[in-house]
Amino acid sequence: MTFCFDNQFLEQFPDLAKPQHPLGFGQARAVILNTSLRDELKLPYSDEQLTAIAGGQKLDPAMAPLAQKYTGHQFGHYNPYLGDGRGLLLGEWQTPAGRFDLHLKGAGPTPFSRGHDGRAVLRSCIREYLAGEALYALGIPTTRALAVTQGDLIVYREQPEPGAMLLRTAGTHIRFGHFEYCYHRGKADDLKQLISYVTDTQWPELKEQPVAAFFQRVVECTARMIALWQVYGFNHGVMNTDNMSIIGETFDFGPYAMLDRYQPDFICNHSDTTGRYRFSEQPSVGLWNLNCLAQALSPVIASDKLVASLHTYSDLLQGHYWARMTARLGLPDDIASQDIVRRWLDLLARTKQDFTLSFRRLISALSDSPGVLPAELRNHGDFPLWWQDYQTLWNGQNKNPDQLLENMRAANPLYVLRNYLAQEAIAAAENDDLKPLQRLAAVLAKPYTEQEHAEAFAAEPPEWGRHLEISCSS
Ligand code: AMP
Ligand code: MG
Ligand code: MG
Repeated sequence: MTFCFDNQFLEQFPDLAKPQHPLGFGQARAVILNTSLRDELKLPYSDEQLTAIAGGQKLDPAMAPLAQKYTGHQFGHYNPYLGDGRGLLLGEWQTPAGRFDLHLKGAGPTPFSRGHDGRAVLRSCIREYLAGEALYALGIPTTRALAVTQGDLIVYREQPEPGAMLLRTAGTHIRFGHFEYCYHRGKADDLKQLISYVTDTQWPELKEQPVAAFFQRVVECTARMIALWQVYGFNHGVMNTDNMSIIGETFDFGPYAMLDRYQPDFICNHSDTTGRYRFSEQPSVGLWNLNCLAQALSPVIASDKLVASLHTYSDLLQGHYWARMTARLGLPDDIASQDIVRRWLDLLARTKQDFTLSFRRLISALSDSPGVLPAELRNHGDFPLWWQDYQTLWNGQNKNPDQLLENMRAANPLYVLRNYLAQEAIAAAENDDLKPLQRLAAVLAKPYTEQEHAEAFAAEPPEWGRHLEISCSS
């Protein structure tokens, strides 16, 4: 099979696609290019060509850009008016390793812009670029960006900001909301067609299976993605069903955050006044969203099958979660280890410890002594018994301690995308200094490996960096 654009969406779903040309913004300049991803996907573009495509200046003649129609539940309420308001599917890139959508964000208004400008700001494009790469390197399924570009455009949000565009890849841009749209409009044929489209391009092994296997696979992918968010401390912030990828890729990054201190009730989205999408709620929201999808699929999949799949969600999510969390502590995945993890997290929450660094400090505590842990943690009344129980389990495995410690290093990242690090890179880029952004991206590409001269990237946030307010639309 060759590499080529195969723009199936337009062909199969003329009712869900509005052809739309990108609108540039003058001479596009590269802010950051993901040349390794470009090369991996064998996209035949020079840096200049990639920049021009990612700046809405030029199209590959084989692309067929369009805006997709979808709907979705936003903060619990159904909104029938959604769609790609500032994004365009440029084309579907076939490779022997699978199919990738190329999607350009910020290239002007579409029929679904609802009076907004169809643009994106530099700040949010950089945040999306960094988050995709950082989550990918951690091993979390995610969309990834190929480029961020800047032109001569100022965009007005709460204040004037530099406009930018982001070119991203995803296995597919089909969202839960595509199915909800078809359901609410009574388009049962399109529902079936959407299932075949996703199955053919993403899960060919399901082609011969009964259609209910499709929903089961969505449940599995969603459970795995959200479990991994909980394991590494990722708070998405806007888990509306139009932001849920049907293939369980982390998608539509907005006001996300990686936890600094371990605070289960952390709310990263300043606009989320009720905390609907707080960190600890993400697993339940995933199930709520799957319920919306199940309803949308009810005309084409038997309801007892849908319900049976929904019932598998919690165990699937917990299976992934506990396997990883016990591994983070260097323990086997069993009930006793899970109890140790719960008590550890409880100690972190009570003593306001940094989530990421605490696991790395624990490795030092095991190889050296608990004296290396922060005093607030060590001096907590519940610590001594926890430490004793933990050591008993850890030592009781009769495994080579050096190997166990090595495994723990490989399971516990040192560098994560803290909001303040992103903010520093953004501030520099807004002043035309792109080096901090490139440096941060390079460090985050190897989150588990201690790197030279990278101490600053593994530091807890300074006071100003703990109170950044990030909200929905940008
Ligand atoms: P988001 O919060 O980015 O997932 O966006 C929710 C909806 O609003 C989507 O349908 C977007 O396409 C649309 N939207 C967000 N920002 C803009 C904008 N600046 N111009 C047009 N549509 C937008
Ligand atoms: Mg698509
Ligand atoms: Mg969205």
